[in-house]
Formats: sequence, C-alpha cells, structure tokens
Amino acid sequence: MTFFGGISFIAHFIIIMLKWVRRNPKPTMTIFSVSGIIIFGALFSLKQSINDSPNVKLIKNTFYGCQKTAQAAEMEDNVIILRLDDVQAFAWKDVSMRMIDEMIGKNIPATIGVIPKNLEEDEEIANYLKKISCDMEIAQHGWDHGQQSGNTKPEFEGASKNTAYKRIIKGKEYLESIFDKDIVTFIPPNEVYSNGTVDALKQAEIPFLANTHTVALANYENNMPKLNSTDKIIDSCKQGFENDNLCVVMLHPQDYATNGYLDESKYAGFSELLGRLEELNAGFMTIEDYAGYKLSNTKNEND
Ligand SMILES: [Zn+2]
Repeated sequence: MTFFGGISFIAHFIIIMLKWVRRNPKPTMTIFSVSGIIIFGALFSLKQSINDSPNVKLIKNTFYGCQKTAQAAEMEDNVIILRLDDVQAFAWKDVSMRMIDEMIGKNIPATIGVIPKNLEEDEEIANYLKKISCDMEIAQHGWDHGQQSGNTKPEFEGASKNTAYKRIIKGKEYLESIFDKDIVTFIPPNEVYSNGTVDALKQAEIPFLANTHTVALANYENNMPKLNSTDKIIDSCKQGFENDNLCVVMLHPQDYATNGYLDESKYAGFSELLGRLEELNAGFMTIEDYAGYKLSNTKNEND
C-alpha cells in the first residue's frame, strides 16, 4: 500500500506544484526547496516499501547475494548450531515451514539440510525455501537419502568416490540452480559416509562436511523418534560448551509430527527448546558461518 501511496503522492504533488508555479512565478526558489524536501520524503517511503516487499527481497538476494544477519556475523564464545535435516518435497513440510518460521521470527539462523531429489515438484516448499534462503543456510542432505536402494542402507555407506561424486554433484547443481547460491555444506544422510565421499566432496568443491552433532533431539529406534527432554538437550549443550564451545543440535521435522503431520502437543516442545537455548550464554550460527570462521582463523594462525 505504501508503494502506491508513494507514487500517487509524488504525481499529485508535482501536478499541483507545476500549476501553482505557472500562476505565481516569483517565489520559485522556495517552492522548489519545499517540493524537493517533500519528494525526498515520498521517495524514501517508496524505497522502504520496496525493500520490505518479499519479492523484491528475493530479487535483491538473487542479484546482490545474501546480506548476513548481524547475529550470524559475530563469533560468540559459545556457539549453538541448529541443524534441521530431512527438509524435502512433500514430507512433513508443514512442520518444516513452521519450525523455520519460528527460528526466523526469533532471528535465529540455522542450517537446513535439504534432500534435493524432486524438490521443485513440490512448488510450495521450493518457493518457501527460496524465500528464506538468505535467513538460513541451505545445506545439501545427500541426493535422495537412500530412496534408490529402498532405504535399506545409508545413501553414502561404502560409496566409491565415483558413485559419491555423481550423487553429490547432481544434488549440488540442482540446489544451486534453485537457490542461485553456492552450496558449501554437505550433511551425509544417517551421518554415514565413506572415504570416497570425502574425496568426492573435495572434487565437487563442497568445503564443509557436517559429520558431528552434540545432541540429537530424538533417538530413532525402529524408525520411531523418541524425543529427548529439553533438560537433557540443554545439559548436553552445556557439556558441548565445556568441550569446545560448541553445541550442534540435530533436529528433524518428523520429531514433531504424528502420522506425517504437525503435532501441536509435540511442537510445543520445540518452542520451549528455542526459548531455553536463547537463555544460554551463546550465539547461534549456521555451519557455513561457523566453519568459514574457523577456516579463516586457522589460515590466519598459519600465516
Ligand atoms: Zn536425514
């Protein structure tokens, strides 16, 4: 609304001014100064409304790259990384979107592990992820998470370099074509990967491998998530801070779903968890920002 208001205001103002100047040519200087100030004000309001428009934000992100949030750019003493795996076409998307919305609302950057295969077949999740791809890191979570083998074994278990490379590059290029930015983090499905996978990541120029976490939100037995208590996660995080100032919390949308859909009673635990994590003496970072920071620090130390 501000956008059209701004345009209409400028147009009307200019017409009125021109008519008035034609009738009263003398105080031209005053009129031009006053109109200059008012037009500047209207343009400023236009600029704000354009900046706030989600589509323009997307275009800006596409052409100018993402602007880092202040919180993500700072390296705190203790760092929390929230890693949301298994975000994909169709499955549990209502939960994934709700979790990401809540984190963005709290200005908490996180790493979203996206399963590339068929992502664009689900327009809703693909468009949603495009929209949030500057607030969050989009990481690659395998290619199909082992679907091809009927989920009988982890996708990268025992994979040769050649096999791993084919899967990685297919997923990386697909995600990069959708999000128009470099994919720099790889999260191996089921946290299982071969030596060939490590070599393949180098060849595919993916510098960061997310191969560890401090605490998982749920334990999976017989594929059924058993949720850990918030107290347990907070304690594990504190332990992580003592070990290396780092706590990586591994989350999955299915942790908060029942029969494939968002379960409000389970989901309340996520909001509680975020609140408790925010109270810790720590900053939130994505894997990309954290690993990038570590990398540049090690380089500086070696120089
Ligand atoms: Zn997974």
